[in-house]
Amino acid sequence: MRNTRLEWPASLDVSSLLEDGWRPSPFREFIVKVHSRCDLSCDYCYMYEMADQSWRDQPRAMSREIADLTARRIGEHARAHDLRDVTLILHGGEPLLAGQDLISRLVTSTRRWAGHGTTVHAAIQTNGVGLSEAYLRLFDEIGVRVGVSVDGYPDAHDRHRRFASGRRSHQGRGSYQAVSTALRRLRRFPHLYGGLLCTIDLRNDPVRTYRALADFGPPKVDFLLPHGTWSDPPPMRVPGAADTPYADWLAEVFDYWYPKPQTGIRLFEEIMHLLLGGASDSEVVGLGPARMVVIETDGSVEQEDTLKSAYAGATETGLHVARDPLDAALRLPRIAARQIGVRALSKQCRACPVRTVCGGGLYPHRYREGTGFLNPSVYCPDLLALIRHIRDRVREDLISKRAGAATG
Ligand code: SF4
Repeated sequence: MRNTRLEWPASLDVSSLLEDGWRPSPFREFIVKVHSRCDLSCDYCYMYEMADQSWRDQPRAMSREIADLTARRIGEHARAHDLRDVTLILHGGEPLLAGQDLISRLVTSTRRWAGHGTTVHAAIQTNGVGLSEAYLRLFDEIGVRVGVSVDGYPDAHDRHRRFASGRRSHQGRGSYQAVSTALRRLRRFPHLYGGLLCTIDLRNDPVRTYRALADFGPPKVDFLLPHGTWSDPPPMRVPGAADTPYADWLAEVFDYWYPKPQTGIRLFEEIMHLLLGGASDSEVVGLGPARMVVIETDGSVEQEDTLKSAYAGATETGLHVARDPLDAALRLPRIAARQIGVRALSKQCRACPVRTVCGGGLYPHRYREGTGFLNPSVYCPDLLALIRHIRDRVREDLISKRAGAATG
């Protein structure tokens, strides 16, 4: 049986880090799981289909009491650290299932507790199928931006993102039609449109996927690598093999997108920003501190929930909004490990020429039973190849632009 007490970062000595001058960075992103169930049953979902099944013990919806305590803890944290901006992300399960009253109460109450000195940006990440006109009017009124998960063109989307059992008329059907209708509705409120989130499936055509997403007119697209670890690998990624199927897929999108971007692509923009010497503002690449915390439906304080793909209990902190200020989480080894930059990297990553851009990849993807998170990403060859591809394309482009300017 796995003993996570022996796996890194359990041995990380936070007191020594503090003595050496390291200081935790306050949280800026608060992911609140207002509902723990979903009306879709996507086969790659890290919450329902992977190692951690703790959602079964969660209440279906967050209670008003827990929503109020959550708002208070966020406000308290923002005031204690003089944060001028924080982001409240309504998440699930499917957050729209929580209902308008609870969502409105949580957003309004968080802003009240944060006070005038802090701007609370609110956003919701939804599967889109319940995104009604009434919801959009509410979001317009209280200022909530909407991000929608969609996997590209109809076949690509419907292969994974299917309705759960429940409504007999929908059971097992693909959700593309419902989501595309919702996106047409959302486009009538362009100021609320946050972007699209697409999980990569190598069976889908990369450029066709990108074009299908761009046709929905989003301000931003996030491509996600499917979750997996060294112990439970992602689809079509053999741990340690030298091939680069995900880099090849993304490079095709990059080459189509880069000369004439129709929309922003967060992963590419982040990599280019880091290559040009910028600071990291993403948990996916770079060495910047992770500054998000999750509040579960029952009020437990947890780590970012993609960690649920690693092992059962990987997100737990033992803290609860009824008892603990969010500051209490900042000194836990599991949270500190996400904020210490290069010190959290494996030997191989520390010696890597692209380590400041890659940053070892998304933290859950580094997990290996026995050594914990002190490993390169299971996507290491893909990350290295993609970063080099983008670097070479941008360099060629800059050289030809400079040559054009010199001759012109
Ligand atoms: S490319 Fe691989 S070795 Fe280099 S930093 Fe990323 S995960 Fe580590």
